Amino acid sequence: MNIFYKSTRGGESGISCPLAIVKGIANDGGLFVPDHIPGIDVDFETLKDYSYNELACYIIGKYFPEIENLRSCIDSAYDDKFDSDSRVSLVESCGVSFLELYHGPTAAFKDMALSLLPYLMTSSIKQLELEKEVVILTATSGDTGKAALAGFAGVPGTKIIVFFPSDGVSSIQKMQMVTQSEDNTFVFGIEGNFDDAQTGVKKIFADKELGSYLSGHGYMLSSANSINIGRLVPQIVYYVHSYLELLKNGKLSKGDKINFVVPTGNFGNILAAYYAMQMGIPVNKLICASNENNVLTDFLTSGTYDRNRPLIKTNSPSMDILVSSNLERMLYHMSGGSEAKVKAFMDKLGSEGVYSIDPEIKSNLDFIYGGCASEDETLETINNVYRECNYLMDTHTAIAYKVYSDYKASTGDSTYTVIASTASPFKFTMSVANAIGESGGEADEFKLMYSLSEKTGVRIPRGLDGIEKLKIVHKTTCKKEEMKDVVKKSLGL
Ligand SMILES: *Cc1c(COP(=O)(O)O)cnc(C)c1O
Repeated sequence: MNIFYKSTRGGESGISCPLAIVKGIANDGGLFVPDHIPGIDVDFETLKDYSYNELACYIIGKYFPEIENLRSCIDSAYDDKFDSDSRVSLVESCGVSFLELYHGPTAAFKDMALSLLPYLMTSSIKQLELEKEVVILTATSGDTGKAALAGFAGVPGTKIIVFFPSDGVSSIQKMQMVTQSEDNTFVFGIEGNFDDAQTGVKKIFADKELGSYLSGHGYMLSSANSINIGRLVPQIVYYVHSYLELLKNGKLSKGDKINFVVPTGNFGNILAAYYAMQMGIPVNKLICASNENNVLTDFLTSGTYDRNRPLIKTNSPSMDILVSSNLERMLYHMSGGSEAKVKAFMDKLGSEGVYSIDPEIKSNLDFIYGGCASEDETLETINNVYRECNYLMDTHTAIAYKVYSDYKASTGDSTYTVIASTASPFKFTMSVANAIGESGGEADEFKLMYSLSEKTGVRIPRGLDGIEKLKIVHKTTCKKEEMKDVVKKSLGL
Protein backbone atom coordinates (compact mmCIF):
# COMPACT_ATOMS: atom_id res chain seq x y z
CA MET A 1 0.00 0.00 0.00
CA ASN A 2 1.37 3.37 -0.99
CA ILE A 3 1.92 5.88 1.75
CA PHE A 4 1.32 9.59 1.34
CA TYR A 5 1.59 12.50 3.69
CA LYS A 6 -1.00 15.11 4.53
CA SER A 7 -1.20 18.21 6.68
CA THR A 8 -2.71 17.88 10.15
CA ARG A 9 -4.69 21.04 9.30
CA GLY A 10 -6.15 19.77 6.04
CA GLY A 11 -4.46 22.13 3.61
CA GLU A 12 -2.39 19.54 1.75
CA SER A 13 -2.63 15.86 0.99
CA GLY A 14 -1.16 13.24 -1.35
CA ILE A 15 2.37 14.50 -0.64
CA SER A 16 5.16 12.02 -1.40
CA CYS A 17 7.68 11.29 1.34
CA PRO A 18 10.63 13.00 -0.38
CA LEU A 19 8.59 16.18 -0.70
CA ALA A 20 7.37 16.00 2.91
CA ILE A 21 10.98 15.64 4.10
CA VAL A 22 12.28 18.51 2.01
CA LYS A 23 9.41 20.86 2.89
CA GLY A 24 9.54 20.10 6.62
CA ILE A 25 6.24 21.87 7.32
CA ALA A 26 3.01 22.10 5.31
CA ASN A 27 1.96 25.31 3.56
CA ASP A 28 -0.97 25.81 5.96
CA GLY A 29 1.36 25.65 8.99
CA GLY A 30 0.30 22.09 9.80
CA LEU A 31 2.62 19.11 10.24
CA PHE A 32 2.89 16.22 7.82
CA VAL A 33 1.37 12.95 9.01
CA PRO A 34 1.23 9.63 7.16
CA ASP A 35 -2.23 8.83 5.72
CA HIS A 36 -2.07 5.48 7.54
CA ILE A 37 0.28 3.98 10.09
CA PRO A 38 1.84 0.87 8.59
CA GLY A 39 1.80 -2.37 10.58
CA ILE A 40 4.72 -4.65 11.38
CA ASP A 41 4.19 -7.63 9.08
CA VAL A 42 7.26 -9.72 9.90
CA ASP A 43 6.88 -11.85 13.03
CA PHE A 44 8.86 -10.84 16.12
CA GLU A 45 10.72 -14.17 16.13
CA THR A 46 12.32 -13.21 12.83
CA LEU A 47 12.69 -9.50 13.57
CA LYS A 48 14.54 -10.00 16.83
CA ASP A 49 17.57 -11.33 14.98
CA TYR A 50 17.84 -8.23 12.80
CA SER A 51 20.77 -5.89 13.43
CA TYR A 52 19.87 -2.29 14.38
CA ASN A 53 20.50 -1.12 10.82
CA GLU A 54 18.45 -3.94 9.30
CA LEU A 55 15.57 -3.13 11.62
CA ALA A 56 15.91 0.58 10.80
CA CYS A 57 15.74 -0.23 7.11
CA TYR A 58 12.61 -2.33 7.64
CA ILE A 59 10.74 0.20 9.82
CA ILE A 60 11.79 3.38 8.03
CA GLY A 61 11.20 1.72 4.66
CA LYS A 62 7.52 1.35 5.58
CA TYR A 63 7.22 5.13 5.89
CA PHE A 64 9.70 6.22 3.23
CA PRO A 65 9.41 3.59 0.47
CA GLU A 66 10.42 6.14 -2.16
CA ILE A 67 13.90 6.73 -0.73
CA GLU A 68 15.75 4.55 -3.20
CA ASN A 69 19.07 4.18 -1.41
CA LEU A 70 17.63 3.88 2.11
CA ARG A 71 19.93 1.09 3.24
CA SER A 72 23.04 3.02 2.30
CA CYS A 73 21.65 6.18 3.96
CA ILE A 74 21.17 4.14 7.14
CA ASP A 75 24.60 2.55 6.99
CA SER A 76 26.23 5.96 6.50
CA ALA A 77 24.29 7.41 9.44
CA TYR A 78 24.59 4.61 11.98
CA ASP A 79 28.21 3.56 11.75
CA ASP A 80 31.19 3.53 14.08
CA LYS A 81 30.69 7.16 15.05
CA PHE A 82 28.31 5.55 17.53
CA ASP A 83 30.00 4.34 20.72
CA SER A 84 27.73 1.32 21.04
CA ASP A 85 27.92 -1.63 18.64
CA SER A 86 24.15 -1.94 18.71
CA ARG A 87 23.85 1.91 18.28
CA VAL A 88 21.67 2.07 21.41
CA SER A 89 22.15 0.26 24.72
CA LEU A 90 19.56 -1.27 26.98
CA VAL A 91 20.78 -1.31 30.58
CA GLU A 92 18.77 -2.90 33.38
CA SER A 93 19.11 -1.09 36.70
CA CYS A 94 16.98 0.09 39.62
CA GLY A 95 13.90 -1.88 38.55
CA VAL A 96 13.72 -0.63 34.95
CA SER A 97 15.61 -0.84 31.68
CA PHE A 98 17.29 2.35 30.54
CA LEU A 99 17.25 2.67 26.78
CA GLU A 100 20.44 4.70 26.34
CA LEU A 101 19.98 6.75 23.20
CA TYR A 102 23.05 8.94 23.70
CA HIS A 103 25.89 6.90 22.25
CA GLY A 104 26.02 8.96 19.06
CA PRO A 105 28.56 11.64 18.16
CA THR A 106 27.06 14.49 20.24
CA ALA A 107 25.99 12.50 23.31
CA ALA A 108 22.25 13.26 23.13
CA PHE A 109 19.39 11.24 21.65
CA LYS A 110 18.92 13.77 18.85
CA ASP A 111 21.79 11.99 17.05
CA MET A 112 19.45 9.06 16.39
CA ALA A 113 17.47 11.21 13.97
CA LEU A 114 19.92 13.93 12.99
CA SER A 115 22.66 11.62 11.80
CA LEU A 116 20.19 10.15 9.28
CA LEU A 117 18.19 13.25 8.25
CA PRO A 118 20.95 14.74 6.03
CA TYR A 119 21.08 11.58 3.93
CA LEU A 120 17.28 11.40 3.67
CA MET A 121 17.23 15.06 2.70
CA THR A 122 19.89 14.88 -0.02
CA SER A 123 18.39 11.71 -1.43
CA SER A 124 14.95 13.36 -1.52
CA ILE A 125 16.29 16.45 -3.27
CA LYS A 126 17.96 14.33 -5.90
CA GLN A 127 14.82 12.32 -6.51
CA LEU A 128 12.71 15.44 -6.81
CA GLU A 129 15.31 16.84 -9.23
CA LEU A 130 15.30 20.16 -7.41
CA GLU A 131 18.93 20.89 -8.31
CA LYS A 132 19.33 23.13 -5.32
CA GLU A 133 21.75 23.18 -2.46
CA VAL A 134 19.87 22.83 0.85
CA VAL A 135 20.60 25.34 3.56
CA ILE A 136 19.55 24.11 6.98
CA LEU A 137 18.67 26.94 9.35
CA THR A 138 18.46 26.08 13.03
CA ALA A 139 17.88 27.97 16.24
CA THR A 140 18.96 25.93 19.21
CA SER A 141 18.91 25.96 22.98
CA GLY A 142 21.76 23.44 22.96
CA ASP A 143 21.35 19.83 21.88
CA THR A 144 19.67 20.21 18.48
CA GLY A 145 22.32 22.61 17.18
CA LYS A 146 25.27 20.34 17.75
CA ALA A 147 23.47 17.19 16.61
CA ALA A 148 22.38 18.94 13.40
CA LEU A 149 25.90 20.31 12.84
CA ALA A 150 27.44 16.90 13.31
CA GLY A 151 24.86 15.35 10.99
CA PHE A 152 25.21 17.83 8.15
CA ALA A 153 28.96 18.55 8.45
CA GLY A 154 30.67 17.55 5.23
CA VAL A 155 27.47 16.25 3.59
CA PRO A 156 27.72 17.23 -0.10
CA GLY A 157 24.96 19.51 -1.36
CA THR A 158 24.15 20.94 2.04
CA LYS A 159 25.09 23.85 4.25
CA ILE A 160 24.03 24.38 7.84
CA ILE A 161 23.68 27.62 9.78
CA VAL A 162 23.07 27.48 13.53
CA PHE A 163 22.08 30.33 15.82
CA PHE A 164 22.35 29.90 19.57
CA PRO A 165 21.78 32.37 22.44
CA SER A 166 25.28 33.53 23.45
CA ASP A 167 24.60 33.28 27.15
CA GLY A 168 21.86 30.67 27.11
CA VAL A 169 23.69 27.37 26.66
CA SER A 170 26.01 25.38 28.94
CA SER A 171 29.76 25.78 28.45
CA ILE A 172 30.00 22.22 27.18
CA GLN A 173 27.17 22.71 24.70
CA LYS A 174 28.71 25.97 23.46
CA MET A 175 32.13 24.40 23.03
CA GLN A 176 30.58 21.53 21.09
CA MET A 177 29.12 23.97 18.57
CA VAL A 178 31.87 26.57 18.13
CA THR A 179 34.51 23.91 17.51
CA GLN A 180 32.62 22.28 14.63
CA SER A 181 34.98 21.95 11.66
CA GLU A 182 33.98 21.43 7.97
CA ASP A 183 33.44 24.27 5.49
CA ASN A 184 29.70 23.81 5.14
CA THR A 185 29.00 24.65 8.81
CA PHE A 186 28.26 28.12 10.18
CA VAL A 187 27.60 28.91 13.83
CA PHE A 188 26.61 32.23 15.38
CA GLY A 189 25.91 33.39 18.90
CA ILE A 190 22.93 35.72 19.16
CA GLU A 191 22.88 38.64 21.54
CA GLY A 192 19.57 37.60 23.06
CA ASN A 193 17.77 34.57 24.38
CA PHE A 194 16.55 31.40 22.67
CA ASP A 195 13.22 33.00 21.77
CA ASP A 196 15.06 35.78 19.91
CA ALA A 197 17.04 33.20 17.93
CA GLN A 198 13.91 31.15 17.20
CA THR A 199 11.86 34.19 16.18
CA GLY A 200 14.67 35.37 13.90
CA VAL A 201 14.85 32.01 12.16
CA LYS A 202 11.06 31.87 11.71
CA LYS A 203 11.15 35.36 10.17
CA ILE A 204 13.78 34.25 7.68
CA PHE A 205 11.66 31.25 6.69
CA ALA A 206 8.62 33.48 6.22
CA ASP A 207 10.55 36.03 4.11
CA LYS A 208 9.24 35.24 0.60
CA GLU A 209 11.52 37.80 -1.04
CA LEU A 210 14.59 36.26 0.54
CA GLY A 211 13.33 32.81 -0.45
CA SER A 212 13.17 33.66 -4.14
CA TYR A 213 16.48 35.53 -3.99
CA LEU A 214 18.15 32.44 -2.52
CA SER A 215 16.37 30.22 -5.00
CA GLY A 216 17.76 32.34 -7.83
CA HIS A 217 21.22 31.61 -6.48
CA GLY A 218 20.65 27.86 -6.29
CA TYR A 219 19.79 27.63 -2.58
CA MET A 220 16.79 26.31 -0.74
CA LEU A 221 16.10 26.75 2.96
CA SER A 222 15.01 23.81 5.08
CA SER A 223 14.66 22.96 8.74
CA ALA A 224 16.17 20.26 10.90
CA ASN A 225 13.90 20.63 13.89
CA SER A 226 11.60 17.93 15.14
CA ILE A 227 8.53 18.97 13.19
CA ASN A 228 10.19 17.38 10.14
CA ILE A 229 8.74 13.91 9.52
CA GLY A 230 12.26 12.86 8.53
CA ARG A 231 13.28 13.32 12.15
CA LEU A 232 10.31 11.57 13.66
CA VAL A 233 10.33 8.27 11.77
CA PRO A 234 13.92 7.20 12.62
CA GLN A 235 12.96 7.48 16.30
CA ILE A 236 10.35 4.72 16.00
CA VAL A 237 13.11 2.19 15.38
CA TYR A 238 14.66 2.18 18.84
CA TYR A 239 11.34 1.56 20.60
CA VAL A 240 10.77 -1.50 18.42
CA HIS A 241 14.40 -2.51 18.93
CA SER A 242 14.17 -2.34 22.73
CA TYR A 243 11.02 -4.47 22.79
CA LEU A 244 12.64 -7.08 20.54
CA GLU A 245 15.76 -7.13 22.69
CA LEU A 246 13.68 -7.77 25.81
CA LEU A 247 11.98 -10.66 24.01
CA LYS A 248 15.33 -11.97 22.92
CA ASN A 249 16.89 -11.94 26.38
CA GLY A 250 13.80 -13.41 27.99
CA LYS A 251 12.80 -10.38 30.08
CA LEU A 252 9.50 -10.40 28.22
CA SER A 253 7.47 -13.29 26.91
CA LYS A 254 5.32 -13.26 23.82
CA GLY A 255 2.24 -11.14 24.45
CA ASP A 256 3.65 -9.31 27.49
CA LYS A 257 3.08 -5.60 27.48
CA ILE A 258 5.60 -2.87 28.09
CA ASN A 259 5.60 0.73 29.41
CA PHE A 260 7.76 3.45 27.88
CA VAL A 261 8.69 6.52 29.93
CA VAL A 262 9.84 9.52 27.90
CA PRO A 263 11.31 12.82 29.16
CA THR A 264 9.39 15.19 26.95
CA GLY A 265 9.85 18.64 25.45
CA ASN A 266 8.57 19.03 21.93
CA PHE A 267 6.66 15.70 22.12
CA GLY A 268 8.62 14.18 19.22
CA ASN A 269 10.24 11.31 21.06
CA ILE A 270 7.07 10.13 22.80
CA LEU A 271 5.11 10.44 19.55
CA ALA A 272 7.58 8.01 17.96
CA ALA A 273 6.77 5.58 20.81
CA TYR A 274 3.08 5.94 19.93
CA TYR A 275 3.83 5.11 16.28
CA ALA A 276 5.74 2.00 17.43
CA MET A 277 2.66 1.03 19.44
CA GLN A 278 0.33 1.55 16.48
CA MET A 279 2.65 -0.56 14.35
CA GLY A 280 2.13 -3.50 16.70
CA ILE A 281 4.39 -3.23 19.76
CA PRO A 282 2.22 -4.19 22.77
CA VAL A 283 2.35 -1.04 24.89
CA ASN A 284 0.49 -0.74 28.19
CA LYS A 285 1.21 2.92 29.03
CA LEU A 286 3.24 5.74 27.64
CA ILE A 287 4.46 7.93 30.47
CA CYS A 288 5.09 11.55 29.56
CA ALA A 289 7.58 13.17 31.95
CA SER A 290 7.97 16.95 32.16
CA ASN A 291 10.10 19.34 34.19
CA GLU A 292 8.73 22.44 35.94
CA ASN A 293 7.48 23.65 32.57
CA ASN A 294 4.64 21.20 33.09
CA VAL A 295 2.20 22.30 30.40
CA LEU A 296 1.81 18.72 29.21
CA THR A 297 1.15 17.31 32.68
CA ASP A 298 -1.66 19.83 33.12
CA PHE A 299 -2.97 19.08 29.64
CA LEU A 300 -3.05 15.32 30.13
CA THR A 301 -4.78 15.77 33.49
CA SER A 302 -7.31 18.46 32.61
CA GLY A 303 -7.72 18.40 28.82
CA THR A 304 -6.76 22.08 28.65
CA TYR A 305 -3.50 23.19 27.04
CA ASP A 306 -2.42 26.53 28.46
CA ARG A 307 0.86 28.10 27.47
CA ASN A 308 0.11 31.37 29.26
CA ARG A 309 2.77 31.07 31.93
CA PRO A 310 6.40 32.12 32.23
CA LEU A 311 9.06 29.83 30.81
CA ILE A 312 11.19 28.51 33.67
CA LYS A 313 14.90 27.95 33.04
CA THR A 314 15.69 24.57 34.62
CA ASN A 315 18.57 22.11 34.94
CA SER A 316 16.97 20.07 32.12
CA PRO A 317 17.17 22.84 29.49
CA SER A 318 16.28 20.62 26.51
CA MET A 319 12.79 20.31 27.96
CA ASP A 320 12.32 24.02 28.73
CA ILE A 321 9.50 24.55 26.30
CA LEU A 322 5.92 25.76 26.47
CA VAL A 323 4.63 24.83 23.01
CA SER A 324 5.14 21.14 22.28
CA SER A 325 4.85 21.22 18.49
CA ASN A 326 4.42 17.50 17.90
CA LEU A 327 1.38 17.30 20.16
CA GLU A 328 -0.47 18.57 17.09
CA ARG A 329 0.18 15.23 15.37
CA MET A 330 -1.12 13.32 18.40
CA LEU A 331 -4.30 15.44 18.44
CA TYR A 332 -4.79 14.61 14.78
CA HIS A 333 -4.62 10.88 15.50
CA MET A 334 -6.71 11.08 18.69
CA SER A 335 -9.48 13.02 16.98
CA GLY A 336 -9.79 10.31 14.33
CA GLY A 337 -8.02 12.47 11.78
CA SER A 338 -10.23 15.54 12.20
CA GLU A 339 -8.27 18.27 10.45
CA ALA A 340 -10.94 20.84 11.25
CA LYS A 341 -10.62 20.19 14.99
CA VAL A 342 -6.84 20.29 14.91
CA LYS A 343 -6.92 23.55 12.99
CA ALA A 344 -9.37 25.06 15.48
CA PHE A 345 -7.18 24.03 18.45
CA MET A 346 -4.04 25.41 16.83
CA ASP A 347 -5.75 28.66 15.84
CA LYS A 348 -6.84 29.11 19.44
CA LEU A 349 -3.35 28.31 20.68
CA GLY A 350 -2.02 30.97 18.33
CA SER A 351 -4.51 33.67 19.26
CA GLU A 352 -5.19 32.99 22.95
CA GLY A 353 -2.43 30.60 23.99
CA VAL A 354 -4.97 28.12 25.31
CA TYR A 355 -7.44 25.48 24.05
CA SER A 356 -9.50 22.64 25.50
CA ILE A 357 -10.11 19.29 23.82
CA ASP A 358 -13.44 17.44 23.76
CA PRO A 359 -14.04 14.68 26.37
CA GLU A 360 -13.86 12.04 23.63
CA ILE A 361 -10.39 13.06 22.50
CA LYS A 362 -9.33 13.25 26.13
CA SER A 363 -10.49 9.71 26.84
CA ASN A 364 -8.65 8.49 23.73
CA LEU A 365 -5.50 9.86 25.39
CA ASP A 366 -5.98 7.70 28.50
CA PHE A 367 -3.07 5.42 27.55
CA ILE A 368 -0.71 8.34 28.24
CA TYR A 369 0.08 9.20 31.84
CA GLY A 370 1.53 12.66 32.50
CA GLY A 371 3.70 13.67 35.42
CA CYS A 372 6.39 16.21 36.29
CA ALA A 373 9.39 16.68 38.57
CA SER A 374 10.92 19.79 40.15
CA GLU A 375 14.58 20.76 39.90
CA ASP A 376 15.26 19.57 43.45
CA GLU A 377 13.52 16.26 42.82
CA THR A 378 15.62 15.83 39.69
CA LEU A 379 18.88 16.21 41.60
CA GLU A 380 17.64 14.04 44.46
CA THR A 381 16.70 11.29 41.99
CA ILE A 382 20.14 11.38 40.33
CA ASN A 383 21.72 10.97 43.75
CA ASN A 384 19.37 8.20 44.94
CA VAL A 385 19.72 6.09 41.82
CA TYR A 386 23.48 6.56 41.85
CA ARG A 387 23.81 5.62 45.55
CA GLU A 388 21.36 2.72 45.46
CA CYS A 389 22.03 1.23 42.03
CA ASN A 390 25.36 2.71 40.95
CA TYR A 391 23.73 4.04 37.79
CA LEU A 392 24.53 7.59 36.68
CA MET A 393 21.79 9.54 34.88
CA ASP A 394 21.59 12.98 33.32
CA THR A 395 18.96 15.48 34.46
CA HIS A 396 16.45 14.69 31.68
CA THR A 397 16.54 10.95 32.29
CA ALA A 398 16.22 11.58 36.03
CA ILE A 399 12.92 13.37 35.46
CA ALA A 400 11.64 10.31 33.63
CA TYR A 401 12.75 8.04 36.47
CA LYS A 402 11.12 10.23 39.12
CA VAL A 403 7.82 10.47 37.24
CA TYR A 404 7.84 6.70 36.73
CA SER A 405 8.42 6.13 40.47
CA ASP A 406 5.45 8.36 41.28
CA TYR A 407 3.33 6.55 38.69
CA LYS A 408 4.26 3.15 40.06
CA ALA A 409 3.60 4.19 43.66
CA SER A 410 0.15 5.53 42.81
CA THR A 411 -1.00 2.75 40.45
CA GLY A 412 0.89 -0.37 41.57
CA ASP A 413 1.41 -1.15 37.85
CA SER A 414 4.07 -3.84 37.54
CA THR A 415 4.36 -3.86 33.72
CA TYR A 416 7.96 -4.12 32.52
CA THR A 417 9.18 -0.57 31.97
CA VAL A 418 11.73 1.03 29.66
CA ILE A 419 12.97 4.56 30.29
CA ALA A 420 14.19 6.58 27.31
CA SER A 421 17.55 7.88 28.45
CA THR A 422 18.11 10.98 26.34
CA ALA A 423 21.53 12.41 27.22
CA SER A 424 24.88 11.45 28.64
CA PRO A 425 25.33 12.63 32.24
CA PHE A 426 28.52 14.37 31.08
CA LYS A 427 26.55 16.71 28.87
CA PHE A 428 25.18 18.22 32.06
CA THR A 429 28.27 17.65 34.19
CA MET A 430 27.75 20.58 36.56
CA SER A 431 24.23 19.57 37.60
CA VAL A 432 25.08 15.87 37.83
CA ALA A 433 28.27 16.40 39.86
CA ASN A 434 26.41 18.70 42.23
CA ALA A 435 23.58 16.19 42.54
CA ILE A 436 25.84 13.41 43.76
CA GLY A 437 27.91 15.79 45.89
CA GLU A 438 31.10 15.36 43.87
CA SER A 439 31.68 18.85 42.48
CA GLY A 440 34.13 19.84 45.23
CA GLY A 441 33.45 23.50 44.46
CA GLU A 442 35.10 23.21 41.02
CA ALA A 443 33.63 25.90 38.75
CA ASP A 444 35.26 24.79 35.48
CA GLU A 445 32.79 22.39 33.88
CA PHE A 446 35.48 20.81 31.67
CA LYS A 447 37.73 19.96 34.61
CA LEU A 448 34.72 18.69 36.47
CA MET A 449 33.95 16.30 33.61
CA TYR A 450 37.22 14.44 34.18
CA SER A 451 36.90 14.29 37.97
CA LEU A 452 33.29 13.10 37.65
CA SER A 453 34.45 10.31 35.39
CA GLU A 454 37.24 9.36 37.77
CA LYS A 455 34.95 9.34 40.80
CA THR A 456 32.12 7.40 39.19
CA GLY A 457 34.10 5.14 36.86
CA VAL A 458 31.76 6.14 34.02
CA ARG A 459 33.53 6.78 30.73
CA ILE A 460 33.29 10.21 29.08
CA PRO A 461 31.64 9.92 25.63
CA ARG A 462 34.12 10.12 22.74
CA GLY A 463 32.53 13.32 21.44
CA LEU A 464 33.11 15.18 24.72
CA ASP A 465 36.51 13.82 25.71
CA GLY A 466 39.18 16.46 25.08
CA ILE A 467 36.66 18.98 23.80
CA GLU A 468 38.26 21.83 25.78
CA LYS A 469 41.41 21.47 23.65
CA LEU A 470 39.68 21.77 20.28
CA LYS A 471 40.22 24.84 18.14
CA ILE A 472 37.42 27.38 18.26
CA VAL A 473 36.48 28.09 14.65
CA HIS A 474 33.21 29.99 15.00
CA LYS A 475 33.76 33.24 16.87
CA THR A 476 31.13 35.58 15.50
CA THR A 477 28.18 36.84 17.46
CA CYS A 478 25.50 39.02 15.93
CA LYS A 479 22.45 41.01 16.86
CA LYS A 480 19.07 39.47 16.12
CA GLU A 481 18.41 42.18 13.50
CA GLU A 482 21.48 41.02 11.61
CA MET A 483 20.50 37.37 11.18
CA LYS A 484 19.23 37.73 7.62
CA ASP A 485 22.46 39.42 6.49
CA VAL A 486 24.50 36.81 8.29
CA VAL A 487 22.70 34.07 6.35
CA LYS A 488 23.40 35.80 3.01
CA LYS A 489 27.03 36.42 3.92
CA SER A 490 27.53 32.81 4.95
CA LEU A 491 26.37 31.78 1.49
CA GLY A 492 28.72 34.24 -0.16
CA LEU A 493 25.90 36.47 -1.40
C1 LIG B 1 15.37 17.24 22.90
C2 LIG B 1 15.55 16.55 24.20
C3 LIG B 1 14.46 16.05 24.94
C4 LIG B 1 13.03 16.27 24.51
O1 LIG B 1 12.66 15.50 23.40
P1 LIG B 1 11.33 15.86 22.56
O2 LIG B 1 11.36 14.95 21.39
O3 LIG B 1 11.49 17.30 22.17
O4 LIG B 1 10.16 15.64 23.44
C5 LIG B 1 14.71 15.36 26.11
N1 LIG B 1 15.98 15.18 26.56
C6 LIG B 1 17.05 15.64 25.88
C7 LIG B 1 18.41 15.42 26.44
C8 LIG B 1 16.89 16.32 24.67
O5 LIG B 1 17.97 16.78 24.01
